Amino acid sequence: MNAPMARVFDLHAHSTHSDGAYRPRELIERAVAAGIDVLALTDHDTLSGHLEAAEAARDLGIGFLPGVEISVTWQGKTLHLVGLRVDAAHEPLIAGLEGLARHRVQRAFEMAQRLEKVGIIGIYDEVLARAGEGMVTRTHFAHCLARRGLAADVRDVFNRYLTPGKPGYVHSTWADLETAIAWIRGAGGVAVLAHPIRYKLTGSWLRRLAVEFKEFGGQAIEVLSGQASPGDVQASAQLAKRFDLLGSCGSDFHGPDQGWPKLGRLPPMPKDVTPVWSLWPDQGSLVPGCPTAVP
Ligand code: AMP
Ligand code: MN
Ligand code: MN
Ligand code: MN
Repeated sequence: MNAPMARVFDLHAHSTHSDGAYRPRELIERAVAAGIDVLALTDHDTLSGHLEAAEAARDLGIGFLPGVEISVTWQGKTLHLVGLRVDAAHEPLIAGLEGLARHRVQRAFEMAQRLEKVGIIGIYDEVLARAGEGMVTRTHFAHCLARRGLAADVRDVFNRYLTPGKPGYVHSTWADLETAIAWIRGAGGVAVLAHPIRYKLTGSWLRRLAVEFKEFGGQAIEVLSGQASPGDVQASAQLAKRFDLLGSCGSDFHGPDQGWPKLGRLPPMPKDVTPVWSLWPDQGSLVPGCPTAVP
């Protein structure tokens, strides 16, 4: 007999509730078209897209995991933690994310003030309108500045205006690592260190991060991430094995823009890494729709 077909997991994706291009329902439709079996919606610092995504997943018969990508400050650096299969009704998580949301609005105001100093006037209202009801992010600034013709494309705007040392950059202090892991774990979720190679940490700092992450209750790292090279995958797999962490996989899909990875397009998990979904032997109950998604 043939072995059962491997299920396709994409456990990191964005919607219009943060800096993604598609509404949650459209994202689920695209996940179905891409052949994904289980999708996690992981918007930046918000759970607000879950209900729509869960309903769409139920309608279309695809597995859905309620997730979130939390902004963290560790050793002065911004890191991202993905929380998977979180209970969206967990008060400390909700309150924590509300604090980050307020910080995002305040930061956007300060970013706009700084940009005024280099002659970019009136961007705040434009950016907030673009973000709509979603979390306001640097990506919204990038789109507005690109539309004004101030750079060639979104990536170019980041390089010219929105990264450390550039005119629109504002340093942020996000959640601390221990606290963010506690929010996720408290909500019954799995804490995943997102795209570990993107932080440009030295090997020894990355190992130190893995030690602390694990001590605080982190369980997995993204071994497969949308923009990771084969070398990055190998380095992340090694980190997972060395620190006995599970491997997650997520495209970090945002939309159709050039340069962003495609939904569900990821290589297979390296054979010697235990996938994070081994924690969910009841995968069947995730299809269609995750029961914890609807309050
Ligand atoms: P924020 O959390 O508001 O600081 O925004 C971070 C988001 O900006 C990331 O999740 C990416 O989606 C996007 N981003 C960061 N750096 C770049 C870049 N160099 N080019 C394009 N998008 C970027
Ligand atoms: Mn993003
Ligand atoms: Mn990220
Ligand atoms: Mn992301």
